[in-house]
Formats: sequence, structure tokens, C-alpha cells
Amino acid sequence: MCGIFAYTGKKSAEEVLLDGLESLEYRGYDSAGIYIPEAGVIKTPGAVSELREKIPANFKGHSGIAHLRWATHGEPNEKNAHPHSGCTDDIWIVHNGIIENFKELKEKLEKAGHTFKTDTDTEVLAHLIEYHLQKERDFEKSVLAALNEVRGTYGIAVQYKEKPEMLIAARMGSPLVLGIGEDERFIASDASPILPHTKKVVFLEDGEVAIITPMEHKILKLDATQVKRAPEEIEWNAEKAQKNGYEHFMLKEIMEAQEVIKNTLRGRLIADKGMAKLGGLESVAKKLEDIERIIIVACGTAYYAALVGEYMLEEYAGIPVEVELGSEFRYRSPVLNQRTALIGISQSGETLDTLEAIREGKRRGALTLGIVNTVGSTIARETDAGVYNHAGPEIGVASTKAFISQLTALALFTIFFGRQRHMSKETGREIADALLELPEKIRSILERNERIKELAEKYANYRDFLFIGRKYNYPISFEGALKLKEVSYVHAEGCGAGEMKHGPIAMIDENFPTIAIATQDSVYEKMKSNIEEIKARKGPIIAVVNDGDTEIPKLVDDVMFVPKTLEMLSPILNVIPLQLFAYYFARKKGLNVDRPRNLAKSVTVE
Ligand code: GLU
Repeated sequence: MCGIFAYTGKKSAEEVLLDGLESLEYRGYDSAGIYIPEAGVIKTPGAVSELREKIPANFKGHSGIAHLRWATHGEPNEKNAHPHSGCTDDIWIVHNGIIENFKELKEKLEKAGHTFKTDTDTEVLAHLIEYHLQKERDFEKSVLAALNEVRGTYGIAVQYKEKPEMLIAARMGSPLVLGIGEDERFIASDASPILPHTKKVVFLEDGEVAIITPMEHKILKLDATQVKRAPEEIEWNAEKAQKNGYEHFMLKEIMEAQEVIKNTLRGRLIADKGMAKLGGLESVAKKLEDIERIIIVACGTAYYAALVGEYMLEEYAGIPVEVELGSEFRYRSPVLNQRTALIGISQSGETLDTLEAIREGKRRGALTLGIVNTVGSTIARETDAGVYNHAGPEIGVASTKAFISQLTALALFTIFFGRQRHMSKETGREIADALLELPEKIRSILERNERIKELAEKYANYRDFLFIGRKYNYPISFEGALKLKEVSYVHAEGCGAGEMKHGPIAMIDENFPTIAIATQDSVYEKMKSNIEEIKARKGPIIAVVNDGDTEIPKLVDDVMFVPKTLEMLSPILNVIPLQLFAYYFARKKGLNVDRPRNLAKSVTVE
């Protein structure tokens, strides 16, 4: 995810573009860059303010493209900052997304004499367009030809030095909005930088290409057939546009869950072979075959993802797994050796407790791996190998989409480690197929969010909550409670449902509701008994149950339905109603869910 902004018209492009980039800064902040055909290119590894400082007085023009990067391929540095060009500096491009087949395209282009300057996947697109331009001699046709060779996701804006007034934009999986002003046109990742200039926009759809000049535009499909779409007027303000129309980033990010799973899986599943292809682990794949034990270190939400990972890896890959809080592990005297893999999970890649735990593991001879969302972060750099989440920046302080992505990555690790050991192709295939079905199932949960909102509002006056679950959903009881605590400041406890009778059940009465995660899996009958125990003590119960379940809904006060999936993947679906519940609960109380009191997004202190 990144910010793209492009302009063509009569105004001073450099001013319009820099102002616009500022409102996109929430989308990425690894580097910033701008290209103006009449002036050249300027990039910086810093923020927009630094880019502004680097721009000389004579850097002027009437069109241009600009970018804020959230790195996926290649370190966040000046060299890898967008815009990128081909060999001749005629074609310039800004890109949001991932070009999945960039390696094969790069090989083909290198054979044709192209030399590459950066580590990004994006650069290949610039060369590919240039390659076609040399043959076709037509800008529009060359972009179309290039896009027809590409697999993956993109939102792009392209310029050709010889046609400075023209912008070509295209979308596949990454958002792009076309803004229509008086004799001027804009392209942006969301409407926020366009709104100060015009409210008339066209939201591009996947597989569409826009050919734009100041006075007109046309929209084509990838096969060059024309699309007719009337512009719409948007009423949002810039802040709402950043949130894609949602009131808070937390809700926007929960609503992104489908995309997040697709992005975490992209290019990493060979479903028919039941295999996971994790490029980031290739360099240590041989060593991983000999690993006898895994320790996962993490904090907060990532720690609960790790606990689910423990169940997945032990059941399907047959490797002993322990999960440790970063803040504890580093002060123990853990016994490790080269046959131990230490996996650190951190959204920011900067969580100090997790980082120090990894350093401790390294000192003690373990092979260290990372599951990290932020490319080039300290954990990503200091671990021996790892995978990126590709979840895009998470702005809401309470982690939602990163958790979904961490669970998805752990499922990929499970297939990877499992297939290195005893997992059959059929089992690998079963998990891979179930993973691929998740986005659609998530859509059906998100579509029913109004029901969850009603429930959250109904229960908003309670001050205490118990969350219970078993096996794969035992950690989800903790995560559900943590979400509610973080954004609502009420008392919420997670508890293994079987553990309830050893203490927590003493708290239950008619003022102490329980949220039970009770989907139809191997512990369903046990969950039913625990629900009966709570009912016998007059505790109100909301249960997360599978679509079609007719038994538990009869026992409990309220239900939140989710589709059924493979048991090991059920946490990915079951946590979503709990995230939404926490969100609407806090919302009902009028709290600032994106910035809960006392919390920080990336915890870089002990
Ligand atoms: N994959 C591209 C890169 O790493 C684009 C990332 C983005 O969306 O900012 O440069």
C-alpha cells in the first residue's frame, strides 16, 4: 500500500503534487518522490517535508506523478523510491501493489538488453512499457501490452517524456480515483488530495486503464475496449476520504480483511501441489529441514497469533512449538541450539521486547526468523530470514488486519514446515484450498456487520466480560478480550473454556456476560457443556457459531454467525465478529477508537 498522486492541467504541478502527497502520508512513509517531465525527478528516503526541502526553485511544470512508498520489495532507501524509469528515462511510473511475476519478466528483459537499477518489483513495469514502446511507438498501446503480461496487483500512474500532458493510470487490486476538474485531471490512491480541487470523481475498477489529458479522459479495459462511466460527486471531506468513507481507521482496517488475506497469500501458494512457496525462507530452507523445535516470541495481539500458530504447527507439521512473550523470554535463561528456530512476530518490526528476545535467541545460537509487516524494519533486518505480511500500513492502534495477516502467514509456515516433513500433498492441498476460500467467507461476515453493531450496542452498558474458547480458539478468547479492553476500557478476560471451572466461573452472574467462541469443530460438544455451566449461573451469553448451527443458538442469548472453515483456520474467521464487537462497543461509548488512551502503535520501549 502506498500513496499515488498525479496531475495534469494548468496549475504548478509541483505545488499541487506536494500538497496532495501530504494528505496521503498515512498510506506510506518509507520514501517520497516526484517526477515532472519538464523538470526531472527528485526522491528522498524521508517524508514529504524532506522532499519539499530538496525541490529547487526551478523545478516546475504543469503535469507530474508523485509517490509515497510502503515498501514490499527492496529496502526503503532513495534508490528504491518511486518514480521508476526504464533504461532511457523516457517512461516514468509510480506503483502501488506487488508485481507477482516480476522475476520472470526481469529475466526476459535482461536478455533483451535492459539493465536494472533498483531492487523493486515496480521497475520491471517501467522497462516493460519501454520495451513495448520501442516496438509499438505508441504510448497507450505500450502500456496496455505491458499490463497484459503482468500478474499481481497494481495501481499505477505512468508518464512519457514526449507526451508530458498525458497521464496513463491503471488499476488491478489497488485503489485509484480519477478527479475531474476544470481543464485539469488528477489521479490518486484515495480522494483526499483531489478534494481541494474538485468533487467530481470516477472510481476506477479492477482491469481498467484511464488515458488522461487535462481536458478529457477515456477509460479502457485491458483488451482496449472502451468503458463508459459517468463521474460522481463525492460529499466526503478529506479525512473521511482517507478512511475510505468509514468513520475510523479501525473499521476500515477490519473491512480490509479480505484484501489482506489475498495480499499475504499472493504468489505464495502452489495450491495444486499443496505447497507454500516462501521466497523469504529460501536462503535457509535446508537448515529448516533439520529444525527440531520452534519458539515463537511476540507481544500483545501478535502473541495471540503465535499461540494459534503453535496449534497449527504442532498438529500439521509435527514440530514441538513453544510461545513466549518477548518481555519474559529475554530475562529467562532459555536453552536453545542450532536446531531451534526462533520466530519473532511483530507488525511494526520494531517492538523492542520482541527484538531483544530475538537478539537473545541469536546469541544463544538459534536460527532466527521474522513475520513482520514493515519492510526494512529492525526485526526484518536482524533475523536470518523471514516473510513479510504485505498487509499495508495499519493506522488504528488496536491491531486488526495485521492479526488476520499474521494468522495467514502462520498457516503458510505450517504448510511449508509440514511439507518439509510428513505432511501429505492432500493435506497441504486441503489447507491451501481452505485458505483460498477465506476471502469470500470473510465477505459474508462483514456483510452482516449491522447485526454485530446491534449486539455491541445492546451490551454496551456492561462493565465486565468473559471470553471463552478452546483449542484453536483458546487464543481468540484472549484476543477478543484484548480488543475490547484496548478500545473500550472495560474489564474483559480471555479464558480457556475448560479452565473456567478452576476459578473464573466464580465471577459469573446476570451482570457478567460471556462471549463464547463455539464454532463446529472438534471441541464443539465441550463448548456446549461450558455454555450450559454459565447459563446455570444466569450469565448472559453471546456465542460465535457457524452458519446453520441450530443447537447453540437455542442455549444462548445472542449469536454472531460465521461460515465454517477448516478448524485450524477458524480463528481467522472467528476473530472478525469480535473485532467488530469491540469497535462498535467503543463507538457507542463515543471513544476515540483509533487512538485509545495510554497506548502507542509501535512499542519501542521496555
Ligand atoms: N511493490 C512496490 C515497492 O516495493 C510498491 C509498494 C507500494 O505499494 O508502495 O516499491
